[in-house]
Order: sequence, then C-alpha cells, then structure tokens
Amino acid sequence: MKPEAIIRAEQLTFSYTDESGVTPIVLDGVDLEIREGSFVAILGHNGSGKSTFAKHMNAILLPTGGTMWVGGMDTRNDDDLLDIRRTAGMVFQNPDNQIVASVVEEDVAFAPENLGVPPEEIRQRVDEALEMVGMKEFALHAPHLLSGGQKQRVAIAGVIAMRPRCIVMDEPTAMLDPVGRKEVMRTIRDLNRRYGITVILITHHMDEAAQADRLVVMSKGHVIADGTPKEVFQDVEGLRAVGLAVPETVSLLWELRQAGLEVPLDAISDEECAQALAKLLHVS
Ligand code: ADP
Repeated sequence: MKPEAIIRAEQLTFSYTDESGVTPIVLDGVDLEIREGSFVAILGHNGSGKSTFAKHMNAILLPTGGTMWVGGMDTRNDDDLLDIRRTAGMVFQNPDNQIVASVVEEDVAFAPENLGVPPEEIRQRVDEALEMVGMKEFALHAPHLLSGGQKQRVAIAGVIAMRPRCIVMDEPTAMLDPVGRKEVMRTIRDLNRRYGITVILITHHMDEAAQADRLVVMSKGHVIADGTPKEVFQDVEGLRAVGLAVPETVSLLWELRQAGLEVPLDAISDEECAQALAKLLHVS
C-alpha cells in the first residue's frame, strides 16, 4: 500500500482579501503530495505564492478552495489544529522574531511547555533538539548575543522540541551572512538525512534548492515544474522564462552547449561540473 503523504494539497486555491475587497488568486488549484522523509525545496520568483503555500501547511492560512491535508488531517478541521501544528513545525526568515526567552535552553523549552509536556520530558527534548542543531554548548547563552546562523539554529531547535514529523522553512537563510547560511543548510540536511524529518524548504537560492531530493517550482500560484534538481535545472529556458536563474554551473554548461560543445546539463555540483569540463578538455 502506498504510504500516506505527509502533506497533500488537492486543488488548493487561495486568495487574500484586501481592504478594497479585491481578491486576486494567489494559489490556483495546486496539487502536490510530499512523501514522509523527503527533502523538498520549493523555488519561485517573489510573489509566486511560496509563502502562502507554506502557511497552509501549518494551518496559519486556510484554503478558499480545495483541501490541504497535513498528516492525513484536513486543515479546515478546527479540532485538529494542535495536532496539525505538532505535525508540521514552521521556521520563518527572521530569527529575532522567533526567539522569545533570554536563555537559549529556555527558548527551546517554550513551545513544549506551552503544549503541556511534563518537565522531565522537556529537559530531554531540549537537550536532544540542541544536539540535533549543533547548539548544545550554547544552552546557557543569551540568544541575542549569538550570530544570525546560531540564532536561526536555536529557532529550529525550538520547533524540533515539539517533535514534528515535518518542518517547513520559509526562506530560513534570507537574513543570514554566507557563514550563517552554510550552518543552517548543514543543519537542515542533517535533520532530514540523519534524523529522518521531512523538510520543506522555501528558497530563492538555486544552490540551496540543488541540495534537496526534489524540487518544486512555482510561478503565479501554479506548480510549473516538479522533479529532481538535476531534472528541473536542465530546463534553463523554461526557468528563465519565469524569472529564475539556474545554478552557475548549469548556466556555464548551457552556454558551452549553445556554442556547440557536448557537455551534460545535469552536472550541478562544482565537482560534477569540473569533471564535465575536464572530460571536455581530455584531462582527468
Ligand atoms: P512568495 O512567497 O513566492 O514571494 P507570497 O505567497 O508571499 O509569494 O505572495 C503571493 C502573492 O500574494 C503576492 O502577490 C503578494 O503580494 C500577495 N500577498 C501576500 N501576502 C498578502 C497579504 N497578507 N495580503 C494581501 N496579499 C498578499
């Protein structure tokens, strides 16, 4: 039997209503299933509906049409709201807005305390969550003195302490410097590969999207591409048409191809691209 998808959007449609009562459609009949244990990146130009979609996975927004299922629960069902939020945790762009306490471990304990988890279990969950994001040694530090990447990892630990099956990250690296971005990306990969947590990463960074197992591209409220990063990034012209670049490696290989050279377009990583070029030059 096919395992139930942890996230399933069925003809998901959504429009915001602004003050003048205008309701442009932001999500337009999105069908998408996300398998438990996978690492999916959602890529798209600004305004394509990525954040709006992410907020449906945590029942922050409810569909105006169609259905969003999270762990088999319909997000419109009020009685399941807590369970839905426990199943799919959410991490946002700005770590400063997500940190609520003045000591790291208290911050991580905040959500499970609110859920009524017994104190001895909270201790265990906090230790485990800080370990998982590589921040255990900072347990007694003041969050506001940490770097952006460290703060974001504390925010992630706060979500992990709720033991979610799935974690939805809405541009978690957007406000970080390159070092912070790398730390957070390493943490995200670990959560998925070592600890089996389903990860949904909203991003507009090609290099981050390339690290996922599956890449979903959105444009104007529609899913316009869905496949492995290698598959999706080969459609250089299709992506450019919706305002997206491709990784620099693919862009270089594509230009070489336009010049008539026989190179593969799916050599996304620096190493793969270097090998493809070495082969072209007959050096190895
Ligand atoms: P993305 O995450 O891909 O940048 P969003 O989901 O944030 O896209 O936005 C999709 C569209 O919805 C945009 O046109 C945006 O202006 C509009 N939008 C987002 N949030 C609101 C809101 N709170 N009220 C009205 N319109 C909104």
